[in-house]
Parts: sequence; C-alpha cells; structure tokens
Amino acid sequence: MAEKRDYYEVLGVSRNASADEIKNAYRKLAKKYHPDINKSPDAEENFKEVQEAYEILKDDKKRQTYDQFGHSAFDGTGEQNPFSGGFRGSGFDDIDLGDIFGSFFGGSRSRRPSGPSRGNDSLAKITIDFMDAINGIDYPLNVTYDQVCHHCHGSGGETPEDVQTCPTCNGSGHVTGARQTIFGTMQSTQTCPTCGGSGKTIKNKCHVCNGSGYERVKTKINVKIPAGINSGQQIRIPGKGSRGQSGGPNGDLYLEINIRTHKYFVRDGNDIHLKIPLDFASAALGTEIDVPTVYGKVKLKIPAGIQPHTKLRMRGKGIKGLRGVSGDQYVEVDVQTPTNLNKKQRDLLKKLQEEDQKDPSFIERFLNFFNS
Ligand SMILES: [Zn+2]
Ligand SMILES: [Zn+2]
Repeated sequence: MAEKRDYYEVLGVSRNASADEIKNAYRKLAKKYHPDINKSPDAEENFKEVQEAYEILKDDKKRQTYDQFGHSAFDGTGEQNPFSGGFRGSGFDDIDLGDIFGSFFGGSRSRRPSGPSRGNDSLAKITIDFMDAINGIDYPLNVTYDQVCHHCHGSGGETPEDVQTCPTCNGSGHVTGARQTIFGTMQSTQTCPTCGGSGKTIKNKCHVCNGSGYERVKTKINVKIPAGINSGQQIRIPGKGSRGQSGGPNGDLYLEINIRTHKYFVRDGNDIHLKIPLDFASAALGTEIDVPTVYGKVKLKIPAGIQPHTKLRMRGKGIKGLRGVSGDQYVEVDVQTPTNLNKKQRDLLKKLQEEDQKDPSFIERFLNFFNS
C-alpha cells in the first residue's frame, strides 16, 4: 500500500482548521468523489480516503490523538494504541449517506437545537522515574481545560434576561427554504444562520466569557500515581477532558504513564531481573551475599559450584503490583574471571591449576572426545 497521506492534506485544510472548515471540506470532496456521481477509476479510492480522514478529524479526541501520534495511533498494530479497541477502520459501510445527501438533495431529516452533551475524553502522557513507579509518587501535572463560566453558568448572557429565543428560527435552530438543484426546486432545511443552531440569541454577552459560556482554566493538579504502576497504564482524571456541548459536562483526561529504565534493575511485569558480579572462588565455594532489591538489600545464598549465567529466583522479592501481588526477583550470576592478579593470588591459582591437572580434568575429557 502506498504511504498514507496526511489527513489534513487529504481534506485540503490547515492543521488548525475549525470543525466547520473540516466539515465543509469533507462535504465538498465527498460529493466530488462519490462513486455514484464520479465515474473515474480513482473515485472510490479517493472517496474512501476522504471518508477516513474525516472520521478522525471530525472527532476532537481522535483528532488530538492523530495530531500527537499520526497514523500510527490508528493502524491497530500496537497494543500501546490507547484507542485501538474503539476505532473502526473506515470502509464503504461506514459512509453516512444521510450526511452527504442531506446537503446534496436538500434532505429532510428533522433537526433540533443540540442539547447538552458530554465532552470527549483526552489523553496526556508523562514519563516518570523507575523507582517512582515502584514506590508511587504525587505528580504535579499542568492541566488546561474549559469549565462552565461561573458568571453566566454557560448561558453566555450577562443576565438570564439577555438570553432570548432566536427570532429567525423561533428557537428551533433551523430554517427551511426552497433551493434550486439539478433536480428542480427542493425544500431544504439548514442550520439557522442567526443563532448557529442553538435556538437562542444573546442580547448582552457575559463579560467574563464573552458569550462562549466557558472559561479556560490553567492549573496544576496533584496526580496520585500508585505504587507498582507499569508503563502503558493509564490513570483517569475525571472532568479534565474536552468541554461538553451546550453546558454538558467535560470528558475525562487519561494520563498514560511511561517509565524510565533503571541502570541495573530490569522490569518484566512485576518481576525484576538483576545481574550480579561474583568472583570465581565464591562461585566455586558458595557464599552468602547481600543482593539489592527494589525495596532494599536481601541476603541470598549462592550454592557452591554455581555456573555462569545461572538464574536464582528470589520469591516475592519483585515488585508489589497494583493488586497486591508481588513479583519475583531473578538474579543472574555473572562469574568474573580474575585479571591483574598479584603475586600471592597467582601462586595460589597455580597451585589450584596443578591440583586440577592431577586428575583427568573436564578439559582432557573434552579433548579425548575428539581423539577417539
Ligand atoms: Zn459567562
Ligand atoms: Zn435561530
């Protein structure tokens, strides 16, 4: 498949285009490429491309995700994709014909002023230190969100009397008129140009929000990140997502956690893997050592004759997970061959070597295999 084109490029709009600009661009292109109308061989492909771009950009949450992560957020390959579960690839069966033909044929779908609706959820990502994820942390997060205006309570009017029923549409939010089309004169219903579909006009705009009904809030909140959290997990922060419509509540903000790697500890779920260096005399004779765990040092018995790269399991010494289940720690012994020996060490090792050579050693047995 050819490389996917940028959705904004597909619709021919700028990256900060408004919802209306996107909708208009989509309608224009959907009409242009609709396979029932356009008989060129590329029409269907173009139509699908336009449809797919619009599916994403018309939805605040998907648009935000797309802006942040690009196409990879929607190709459904990665489990990291926070929205992969909900999003459906856009094929022909997804086409909202009512939407296209509503404007093309002057459709007669009934319309009402839109009531309050909840805002979309949004997503933010932060990266925290390895040990902070183990122990939990209060994370100061800068958030910006809209809240219903404290002065007008979302009406947009300076006083309740300033909010009036729209005289153009009598509060219905739409107007009906006759339009000339290629099929003759058609009745067409359109969003009221005076009130924009709300059914209301405002005489004196609220001085706090200038009639929008919302105030932008910039603040720092303390997010409790629980001990044991892992990379990719999300914390829900209620009411800090996108603002609702017509006085509806905000969506939620989801905070996705990413964790920095540690110099020595390697995390695998709630298990920890750790390599520890061990001198070869201790490996041969066995010993007891203090092993660092994420919660402090713990004694570990090293059995005599341990082989390089052996993994020892320290049961329950991994991470205490979110559900109270502890992982294990796996210690890999990294047996060190001594270098830079002093005279005494060299003499001792020479004696060991002589002792080893009295018996047929494993090296001799190995070499004999090739002689026989
Ligand atoms: Zn206000
Ligand atoms: Zn109106």
